[in-house]
Amino acid sequence: MITTIKLTFIFISLSFSQFLYAQVNDTTLIQKIISAAKTQEETSSILRVLTDSIGGRITGTSQSKETSAFLLKKLKEIGIDNAHLEDFELKTSWAHNSASGRIINPTHQFMVVGSYGWCPGTKGEITAKVVDLRFFKNKKIPERFEGIMGAAVIVEPIAFEDQPSQVTRILLANALAKSGAAAMLIPSDKPNRLLYISAFGFYPMAPLPVISIAKEDALLLHRILEYHPVTITLNINNSISNKASKEFNVIGDIPGTDTVGTILIGAHFDSWDYGQGAQDNGSGVAAIMEVARIFKQLDIKPKHTIRFAFFSGEEQGLLGSHAYVIKHANELDKLKSVLIMDDGAQVPKGFMIHGRSDLDNILSRVFQALSPLEATGISADASFDTDHAPFLAEGIPSFTLWVNEGDYDINHHSITDTYDKVDAGLLATDTAVLAVAVYSLDQHLKAVNNRLFQDERKALMKKNGLESVQKMLSRSWR
Ligand SMILES: [Zn+2]
Repeated sequence: MITTIKLTFIFISLSFSQFLYAQVNDTTLIQKIISAAKTQEETSSILRVLTDSIGGRITGTSQSKETSAFLLKKLKEIGIDNAHLEDFELKTSWAHNSASGRIINPTHQFMVVGSYGWCPGTKGEITAKVVDLRFFKNKKIPERFEGIMGAAVIVEPIAFEDQPSQVTRILLANALAKSGAAAMLIPSDKPNRLLYISAFGFYPMAPLPVISIAKEDALLLHRILEYHPVTITLNINNSISNKASKEFNVIGDIPGTDTVGTILIGAHFDSWDYGQGAQDNGSGVAAIMEVARIFKQLDIKPKHTIRFAFFSGEEQGLLGSHAYVIKHANELDKLKSVLIMDDGAQVPKGFMIHGRSDLDNILSRVFQALSPLEATGISADASFDTDHAPFLAEGIPSFTLWVNEGDYDINHHSITDTYDKVDAGLLATDTAVLAVAVYSLDQHLKAVNNRLFQDERKALMKKNGLESVQKMLSRSWR
């Protein structure tokens, strides 16, 4: 008898634990998700449309509209519910044309130069003396600078006093414009005369021409300036239109079986057009779309509604994701978590949880599901530089895919961000990580109400030095 009772007990306890296991961590399903991602069925073809067919997808352009239409069609084809566009206002649009620069005195040398985004041009060719203001010895940006009227001024925006370099960049641009400078030159930190472009902090319009100059050419200017004044010519052809227009985010859902809330997974689709916006952020868009396809293919019925979001206007200062947060303000209490990919297809490490160390315990359990992909890492570092940020500022747990840097920083925002830079195998692995993370979050997050209160949000921003960049961007959001 005793033996029988014991056996029954063991049998029951085994079944019960198996039941629990199946509820919380279905390893067979996780394996299926990983295998589906590794087939790379759709990612490469989506990426190819975004890069080779549509091309540079600058916010406000016809390519951007074409992209939102393409993504909407794709969501519908996959069978995603509630697929729709959500518009927001773009206050200004910007286009660039040719950009050239030459040293004309004391030597003759062509320079490699290109405009930053949402900056005015030079209105034809200008001739300017060069002033080197790579100072910051006193670490304070004055209201005005003396003796730079009409000059092309070299600066090196660096992070200091809790202010990221994007913030010092706009502070410098404002001070230089007030002081009558003709242009601000920023040496690129990329190799091989590659340039960099960005509009972060400049939208809706920069106060003067801001020009990326090849590192090698900046070094040449420094060397000549040691013994002789330098004169250059610049001819930067940009146009800015003050006519407001509509820009679109693309949204779709897999409805949850319970009314417990929503998990949002997203990526921005706008890009720069010097390259093809392949890593930034065609790779993110392709991965998110593939997660949607895999969930439908495997007929996964999540408890939470899984919302797929493709944002525009990220490069102008998170315009699309900010517009989303405003439009859906009443639903944010039910938004349990946000996952964003925007660091390129690289070897995955896990997730950045942007200051939410309070969730460490539950997240290490959630992300345990990523162990077959060796991506269980959690970084508490916080940033305000992609579409998780407007959600983070609202106190919603917001995570970004954390990857090895690889060659991302070299190609990012430069002419070399092209289709061939995206490793299809790594993109498949990153897709698997995102899909498994969403699945596992869905299993675990039901009982957790994670939204921070107002004072907690402020404290998180302050603790992580994000206040100044949040303030800078809120200027564009007004
Ligand atoms: Zn990006």
